[in-house]
Amino acid sequence: MGELTKKAKAKVDKGVSNAKKILSLMMIWGLIFSVVTIGRLRVAFDYDDTLVFSTPAMRKAYSSGAIPHTAQFWKIVNQSYDLEQPKFMTHAIAWVFRLAGFQPTILVSRPPDGGEPLRKEWRHLAPKLVFASGADAKRVALSQGNYLLFFGDSDTDIREARAAHVFPVRIRRSRTSIFKEDYHPGSLHELVIPFSEY
Ligand SMILES: [Mg+2]
Repeated sequence: MGELTKKAKAKVDKGVSNAKKILSLMMIWGLIFSVVTIGRLRVAFDYDDTLVFSTPAMRKAYSSGAIPHTAQFWKIVNQSYDLEQPKFMTHAIAWVFRLAGFQPTILVSRPPDGGEPLRKEWRHLAPKLVFASGADAKRVALSQGNYLLFFGDSDTDIREARAAHVFPVRIRRSRTSIFKEDYHPGSLHELVIPFSEY
């Protein structure tokens, strides 16, 4: 065999083995996707300080003159999502799950006042967005459906996930968040995602 043909053959062989690798990866993905879809497996994400840094929306509502924690106040918060900044790690994780066939659910710990546009805003990532305000609203939501994981920033998120028999994962809060209470990452011996504060 000539030198040229040998080189060409080596190239073809390499191409075939790469194609095989890609094919097996696609088959693995297909298998995961089927199992997840057939089992209707879900993952859930808390909203404030987990999926987005929403402090600017909160600040806008506080400085609007609306009486804090009234329907008017929450309407301003719920409609100021253009001020909120997506958190990188949580988004990356959420999209990996979405592509693996999981249906991500977003649990927003706020009253639903004026919240319809927010639901629409997130429909591509999460077909289901639930306004879950109140002491055990998240636990109730997590008990309905086959949830495997719940990502949240507060201690309560971790406890509520466990109470609903869902595996909790901690997302770190930004240091500049307006929320300071209910936050001791690692104190409940839960899994904490590194660099998730950004
Ligand atoms: Mg939160």
